[in-house]
Amino acid sequence: MKHRARKQWGQNFLKDSNLLNKLVALIDPKPEDLILEIGPGKGALTKKLSQKVSKLTAVEIDERLYSTLASQKELTNCTFINDDFLQTSWSEYGFGSQGIRVVGNIPYNITSPIIFELLKNRSKWKDAHLMVQKEVADRLAAKSGGKEYGRLTVMVQSQADVEKLISIPPDVFVPKPKVDSIFICIKPHSRYEMDKNMYARFDAVVRAAFGQRRKMLRNSLADFDLTKVKSIDFDRRPETLSVDEFVLLSNKIGRINPVEIPS
Ligand code: SAH
Repeated sequence: MKHRARKQWGQNFLKDSNLLNKLVALIDPKPEDLILEIGPGKGALTKKLSQKVSKLTAVEIDERLYSTLASQKELTNCTFINDDFLQTSWSEYGFGSQGIRVVGNIPYNITSPIIFELLKNRSKWKDAHLMVQKEVADRLAAKSGGKEYGRLTVMVQSQADVEKLISIPPDVFVPKPKVDSIFICIKPHSRYEMDKNMYARFDAVVRAAFGQRRKMLRNSLADFDLTKVKSIDFDRRPETLSVDEFVLLSNKIGRINPVEIPS
């Protein structure tokens, strides 16, 4: 059956076999790997990966694509789940406690929620290879100082390392997206130990700092008590602070009453 691509689900399918082989080589799947694929679509990447690994589970929101995939006899080591990745509990993937490898040519309109969902569950996976819009890749992998460096950069890099692997032009997708893409790899790290409260405060500080990007920290962080923070010059603007400095700042910063720390 011919499938009409659905825009609301960010459907841009990969067709080019050479490119798919290149992506698989970058993922470098090992026979013992357990793969979690987000948005398998028509299974272009799924087919190539499933031949190389022991087990692959894929979550696809589109019922029609899901049915086609689930009925394919050659994908015997694959399990398909017809659901929204953002609403699916990780216990449904049936992987146990081993490190999962996440892959996906994901819908661009929900890239950030997908990445935050991954980070929330970061103890459960080893790495994530994702196709994202170039501008988002630039923000995820940005270094301090530039205009791409912002809240998304600092929140993600506080939990994981992001590497840009290759640039992908629009014409390898059907239909063609209007934007360039970059295939990235995200690997969780544990350089900063933050409990739930510290993370909530970190989130609040980063949000406030970048909420008023052009202002000096002294002004954007006016709701916080800065007296205990000796090592940071509050005349600086948020994009000049490294991730290290944001962590240090949020660990030292005081709370001004009434405190509003989101849970
Ligand atoms: N991986 C395929 C398809 C990429 S298009 C390929 O490379 O050809 C993105 C896919 O994600 C589509 O199949 C779309 O239906 C699916 N999708 C969109 N939103 C989703 C969500 N919230 N959860 C799971 N799948 C989703």
